[in-house]
Amino acid sequence: MRNGRVSCCVRPGPFSVEAAEVLANENSDGYRLIVELRASSTEDFERALRASMTGRDPVGEGGATAPPPRRFTIALDAGHGGADGGARGVNGTVEKQITLLFSLELAKKLEETGLYRVVLTREDDRFLRLDERVRIAREKGADLFISVHADAIAIRSVRGATIYTVSDKASDAEAAATAARENLSDAIAGKVPEDEQDEVEDILVDLIRRETHAFSIRFARNLIGELSSTVQMVKNPHRYAGFRVLRAPDIPSVLLELGYLSNPKDEAQLRDAAWRSRTMDAIIRAIGYFAKANGGAGG
Ligand code: ZN
Repeated sequence: MRNGRVSCCVRPGPFSVEAAEVLANENSDGYRLIVELRASSTEDFERALRASMTGRDPVGEGGATAPPPRRFTIALDAGHGGADGGARGVNGTVEKQITLLFSLELAKKLEETGLYRVVLTREDDRFLRLDERVRIAREKGADLFISVHADAIAIRSVRGATIYTVSDKASDAEAAATAARENLSDAIAGKVPEDEQDEVEDILVDLIRRETHAFSIRFARNLIGELSSTVQMVKNPHRYAGFRVLRAPDIPSVLLELGYLSNPKDEAQLRDAAWRSRTMDAIIRAIGYFAKANGGAGG
């Protein structure tokens, strides 16, 4: 099943992923995702999924050497960067700068707990395509992916944080518009990658993403539970749309819009170290619940 062009006839049911790799196309632009699947029992599937969440090898077969014990790994993705500045605040705050500052501070706080390993997709002002952000998280073995943003919209009075998960169908028109804006990042690179992945995605949506997606939603709820007592949230703070940066098939992923740079109060909060610190504490609590529920952190 290498090059698995499964375009029909896949019997619904659990599969185990024997191997998955992303390779550059030899004769054209873009990449292809190669996934080797094997029919599996529901029980095996869930065991493998739990193991993948905690980084433990469930079967230990295939000649792989036993991985060293590892900590629950969180990928923090500072939105935008380089030529892609992102949104701009009413008082001049640039999204790419505030997302980087927030991500660096959050990484430090997470590391200080001693419970987590943190991967940053960028640590400086550089441009990264959305798929590169996903690839970095996957290569570094992330168990959770958090993309940090602070959007701006035309209606200045709108404020509050929003948690997004990925979905082909958007929760509402505003979520769809947000995803469209965030996905524009790739256009700045001058070349929008593929949709080479689409055919493969048809398989993954059914076989892997569905399971990962349930974890993404669980974490989004953890996050809302903790943030809503600390931070002003938008109405219906869990929303979903087709964010390219949330498309890792095997890493629970959320995009956190910390607030609206188009709102002066939100912008001022984002520039306030005490507000950021409180917000990070809430995020760390949410990560703690999520990691513990999935057999991850806790020592
Ligand atoms: Zn953004």
